[in-house]
Amino acid sequence: MAAWATVVAVAVGFLLMRAVDDGPWRHPAVEQRAVAAAEPAPAAAPAPRTTVKPVDSPREVAMVAPPPPVTAGEAPYDMRPAWQRFAVPPLPGLGKKPVIAIVIDDVGLAKHEMEDLLELDAPVTISIMGYADGTEEFAKRARAKGDELLVHIPMEPQGNADPGPKALTVGLSPTEILNRLRWQLDRHEGFVGINNHMGSRFTSDAAGMKIVADELKARGLLFLDSRTAATSIGEDVAKAAGIPTASRDVFLDNEIGANAIDAQLALAERHARDKGSAIAIGHPHAMTIEALARFIPQAKARGIAFVPVSVVIARRDGLTIDYEPRYDAVSAAGSGKRSGSLPPPRG
Ligand SMILES: [Zn+2]
Repeated sequence: MAAWATVVAVAVGFLLMRAVDDGPWRHPAVEQRAVAAAEPAPAAAPAPRTTVKPVDSPREVAMVAPPPPVTAGEAPYDMRPAWQRFAVPPLPGLGKKPVIAIVIDDVGLAKHEMEDLLELDAPVTISIMGYADGTEEFAKRARAKGDELLVHIPMEPQGNADPGPKALTVGLSPTEILNRLRWQLDRHEGFVGINNHMGSRFTSDAAGMKIVADELKARGLLFLDSRTAATSIGEDVAKAAGIPTASRDVFLDNEIGANAIDAQLALAERHARDKGSAIAIGHPHAMTIEALARFIPQAKARGIAFVPVSVVIARRDGLTIDYEPRYDAVSAAGSGKRSGSLPPPRG
């Protein structure tokens, strides 16, 4: 009897998880239009008893509703890939200055740290934990301040450390890897791409990384390899998939101490002067933010420019970011489910 109850409970739990996890991705605007189109008009008179069978759920309607025609006044569809659509333009006066992209990841779990980030007097790139809740307002404010956004996707490390909920691990089926990635991407808005949280094991796995890269490609997103392992093939797989990509150059706060962080910031500056650009990843620790608050004005005075990570990735990949919206009325008529069929970035 107890065994039966367990079987039933597990089966129900599984079905519920599927219901949550299996939603296909749709462009939010398309979803909204489809749902709006599916909403019944207010009835002028009591409905007769023999009306069509009521639809089980609005979700089902949204999936089968035909795309509505484009009407005058409706917002046209922006043809640029998401990484360009949501890229934050660099501040004027960039010229030939060496540039540093500061990426702060693991953001979205401790709210007080997030506030301090917005005080930094330079554009930084903020990577919000894929599974973090209630970050919408913060994300909007960060973008309004001039910060660029990434989604931080937990991936399996070597060893026993816990990468967190919905982590991508090499033992998962391809479907489950995709489901977990989509679940996280669908919870956020306005981001240019992802970088990996942990992931020394997963980013070394070609099959798993190909699934990730193909999904990013379909969504027009970029990949920043946090490079938590020398064996990571994340950047190579992303390149092969044709998406904008680069690897982290410097970790700022693997050792948390004012002197250690200052030394890593100096290393990032040297790297930027030698190579033209540097990508430095840190975390929202009070000590890291304090070190950045000291470093940023001094480095600016020495001729360093701070830029969103998309600027560095575009430079390294020889791409030009189109900051002006481009509209396509045909695309706006529907079909915008994924941006995979969009033209590749110019340049
Ligand atoms: Zn992380």
